[in-house]
Amino acid sequence: MIPTSGSYRLANVRLHRSLTLGLAAAFDPDGFALVDITIANGKIADLAAHDRAVAPADAIDLSGRIVLPCFVDCHTHIDKGHIWPRKPNPDGTFMGALNAAGADRAARWSAEDVARRMDFSLRSAYAHGTKALRTHLDSVPPQEEISWPVFETMRETWRGRIDLQAACLLGIEGVRDKVWFERLAKRVAAAKGVLGVVTYMVPDLEELLDRVFAQAIKHGLDLDFHADETEDIAAISLKKIAEASLWNGFDGNILVGHCCSLSRQPDLEVLDTLDKVAKAGLAVVSLPMCNLYLQDRRNDGTTPRWRGVTLLHEMKARGIKVAVASDNTRDPFYAYGDLDMLEVHRMATRILHFDHPVGDWPRAVAATPAEVMRLEGVGTLAAGGSADFIVFKGRSWTELLSRPESNRIVVREGMAIERKLPDYAELDELMVE
Ligand SMILES: [Zn+2]
Repeated sequence: MIPTSGSYRLANVRLHRSLTLGLAAAFDPDGFALVDITIANGKIADLAAHDRAVAPADAIDLSGRIVLPCFVDCHTHIDKGHIWPRKPNPDGTFMGALNAAGADRAARWSAEDVARRMDFSLRSAYAHGTKALRTHLDSVPPQEEISWPVFETMRETWRGRIDLQAACLLGIEGVRDKVWFERLAKRVAAAKGVLGVVTYMVPDLEELLDRVFAQAIKHGLDLDFHADETEDIAAISLKKIAEASLWNGFDGNILVGHCCSLSRQPDLEVLDTLDKVAKAGLAVVSLPMCNLYLQDRRNDGTTPRWRGVTLLHEMKARGIKVAVASDNTRDPFYAYGDLDMLEVHRMATRILHFDHPVGDWPRAVAATPAEVMRLEGVGTLAAGGSADFIVFKGRSWTELLSRPESNRIVVREGMAIERKLPDYAELDELMVE
């Protein structure tokens, strides 16, 4: 249906206000406008309000189908992905996940093992319509020596299809080894990566955060934290990160993931934290599927009572940048998932109520994570921009978010790609004991 080359016009498509720049058109209450898109040389040559009268005879009429820009997935773990068959989570808890993933890493994560699973993950993400992706890389010694070179090769291999970024991942206790941590920060900088740690409420948290910020400032790195992935209301490291950013005068980008405990805390505590997060300019990413899976996991025969996600509505109302992302895929932290950002959008809409009104929530899967990752011209559709978008069957939010849209058309640089999900059997030989 979409030509494989040349210039063409897609007529009568639905674009959303929150993901379209510079379009003079009438938007309906759901935020959609009917638009004609002219494609030439891999770019969007023109976006104009749909006008049947001026459409050329060979225009492709899409009858009001929704077109979204390609997705941006800003928090994933493609180094861990797909190890579930050989290393399941014994009880579905966070601690069960941490222990299982750690044991698998120590025993099995050779360069070849990591590379093959990463490539599998990226092929899935690409087929689903993702254009840019940030992964965390477990960087506990000696894994950093193995995974970072694999990542650098993978980024080259995938250049032009998926823009790849990586952040190192280690518990904040690892920062106590000053010499090693400085070496890691240097390695991350050499790979043009992002400096990341998992914060816990350790007694020396403030001092350790200062060291993290000092290294980020020294090497000009952005920061990416895993924070407060727990129901424990005493976990306030999101606030500690905001305070550390303010007193260190940090002016890079900071993305903080999870922040689950915030939604359990008393209102005054929450307000104080949100003030500081807004003032420090932090961005927050919620991982709704993984949080739903791990948080409030009970092994006493009782049913979970809360959703595990953080306070995205309150954050967005204060101007804090908010995103949602995939997080883990088929590993001990999450038994499911396929790096499909439409699934993330669909699940986030249900779990976090991205609806009634939808408003500008669709930015959370495209435009906002692109800003956080400093990707220009990604996550929005605009005249002059790349023709990288996804054509869905759905013509409304309820149609779009009710079915898997397995037959969506992914267009990259104006051409429909071959969407081929890798076969799980490819990984079988990596899964044997
Ligand atoms: Zn994560």
